[in-house]
Amino acid sequence: MATNTENIFTFIDTFAATNNEGLYLESVIDACNRWLSGEQLPQLTATVSKEEIRRGIQLAVLKGMKQQVQSHHQMTPDAIGMLIGHFAAKLVQEESVTLLDPAAGTGNLLFTVMNSIGDNVSAFSVEIDELLVRLSAVSADLMEQPVHFFVQDALRPLMIDPVDMVVCDLPVGYYPDDENAVNFEMMAEEGHAFSHHLFIEQSMNHLKDGGYGIYLVPATLFESDQSDILHKYLKKNAVIRAVIQLPDSLFKNAVHEKSIMIVQKPSEQIVGKRDVLLTKVPNLSSKQAMSAFLQRFDEWVEE
Ligand code: SAM
Repeated sequence: MATNTENIFTFIDTFAATNNEGLYLESVIDACNRWLSGEQLPQLTATVSKEEIRRGIQLAVLKGMKQQVQSHHQMTPDAIGMLIGHFAAKLVQEESVTLLDPAAGTGNLLFTVMNSIGDNVSAFSVEIDELLVRLSAVSADLMEQPVHFFVQDALRPLMIDPVDMVVCDLPVGYYPDDENAVNFEMMAEEGHAFSHHLFIEQSMNHLKDGGYGIYLVPATLFESDQSDILHKYLKKNAVIRAVIQLPDSLFKNAVHEKSIMIVQKPSEQIVGKRDVLLTKVPNLSSKQAMSAFLQRFDEWVEE
């Protein structure tokens, strides 16, 4: 018998195949809206979970992303999302948690983290691409996840109260809007600033004292020609908690290799504690090595 995830994918894909005049991703949104209104429904068991809904929609979005123009909006791969979800769930300190993803794309990473944390979590999602915001908004409604959506340049002022945790697969490259970039400490002395630097700064400004930022960053983050600006900023405004290298097998090309950086916004209680966890995620296909790695991470959090 097909699983709920497979049935959701088949429902969306069949709808897209019979309504193929527009973009595939538009059909994904239409299919989800019909499901939401009860007009047309996938075959589901009564116990369908938020994760099954996320995965079913994600399969359709992956197919849509391969077919059309959204190639520059890479969805965060599930393996990385699950890891970040695990880290986030372990680091959460409050009973009820607020999250921010300032570059939320399809929402896949944000929803994975929300589903990992469980109940009592709400989020703010910012994304510049309107199609992706419509897609993530209907997905959130289907999962009944409370998320506020903002369609805007996340590096412009954000009307968002400070949150407990930031998660973000950072957009990497130069930020072309120098006029706006001069408002940031990490503006480059010459030429454009790096948008991944500015996203760290912007999101740290929206984090509560003691809150965590979990960022997917280029593996070469601390080796660029602007890394001294980043070092200076982090030393003053953050406590780096961990830098976790991801296995190269996850990336087609060494240039695209990523790490996960966990930082904490200083507060009176944590000032002075500065030991950094530097580690490498083992090959994801080795179950034993992975579970030993996650256990070591959990022990580190406990400490
Ligand atoms: N985590 C996302 C997911 O699972 O779909 C993928 C994030 S993708 C690596 C980065 C996203 O940042 C893209 O969707 C892109 O449109 C968005 N982005 C880039 N610059 C932005 C800006 N200045 N303001 C808001 N969003 C931006």
